[in-house]
Amino acid sequence: MGEIVTASHHELADTLIEIWGKQARDGFLLSDPSLIDIPTREVFDEQIGVAFRFRWMPHREIRGDIKALEQRGILNPDRDETKLFRDTRDAQGRHCFLCESNILECHPKETLVGMRLLGREYLAGANFAWIEPNHFTVMPREHCDQAYTRHVLDAMLDLHAQTQGHFRVLFNGPNAGATIPWHMHYQIVTAALPIENLILQAEDTYPTAVRRFTLQGDGADRAHALAQRWLDGDALNRSLNLLVATVDASPCIFVFPRDRRYAKTKEKGLVGGFEVAGDFVLSSPSEETIYKNADVAMARKILGEVRPPDWTDSIVVKDMPGSLTDTGNHACIGTSA
Ligand SMILES: [Zn+2]
Repeated sequence: MGEIVTASHHELADTLIEIWGKQARDGFLLSDPSLIDIPTREVFDEQIGVAFRFRWMPHREIRGDIKALEQRGILNPDRDETKLFRDTRDAQGRHCFLCESNILECHPKETLVGMRLLGREYLAGANFAWIEPNHFTVMPREHCDQAYTRHVLDAMLDLHAQTQGHFRVLFNGPNAGATIPWHMHYQIVTAALPIENLILQAEDTYPTAVRRFTLQGDGADRAHALAQRWLDGDALNRSLNLLVATVDASPCIFVFPRDRRYAKTKEKGLVGGFEVAGDFVLSSPSEETIYKNADVAMARKILGEVRPPDWTDSIVVKDMPGSLTDTGNHACIGTSA
């Protein structure tokens, strides 16, 4: 059976990194990041100061191969399928990958790390099909929807702070990269993401929609206001990605407005939080061409295709009555509408 360890606030980052190493040694990860060399191509976009990263990780394809996962002991071959909780809205009848009881039944090698974020109980589990070293999925203990609320943003900030900024925290809204929208979750990694180097005032030149907020003053309130107004403007179609990371020694929130009608691209398929942050992980045979041809134009093409066509700051204001008057350092919402 899998196990659960708990970590106090000040040692959370250390505990997560230690458990990650243990999970690699236990054979729970598809590959051991300390033993594998990932072919990587970085392409620098001078205009915005961002080095887009393309990585070739074909071994990740095993994540969809049930037999191989069972043979490696990542998935319990003797799991009792009748015990597994399934959300009735899941059209494919999949069990919830993020419910604690399902994880314990399916992944005997997995060690979960317990933590409290804003007074709510969460668990972190190493992502066996990791994208970056120290990649965990963090989910509340109760089964609840992957819906954006102020709690999501504040829990992300709490998690970032509890790890002293070592871990970047990502949120993929439904239809914006979340593969299971029925159970709330975040992705966390220790590696810097390309967009962290985005030069000041260059948000409008970034190929997809993004706004950056520092935590100084009311930055979190303004980030939340933008996110909420974007979503409220078209609850059926709109979604978002969020990233909390430290930039220039200050925690920052990146808000990426998304639209479910532009969730995928021809080249890359589903585009989630890592991609919109400039990190392209390629693993399928059809994606090998992207890796081989990686350049700034390719990164811009992929990200341009998921940029919501109706995204402008003024649209956000027009959709909702009232307007925000404080535009701050990183102006997020125009006052002209
Ligand atoms: Zn669940």
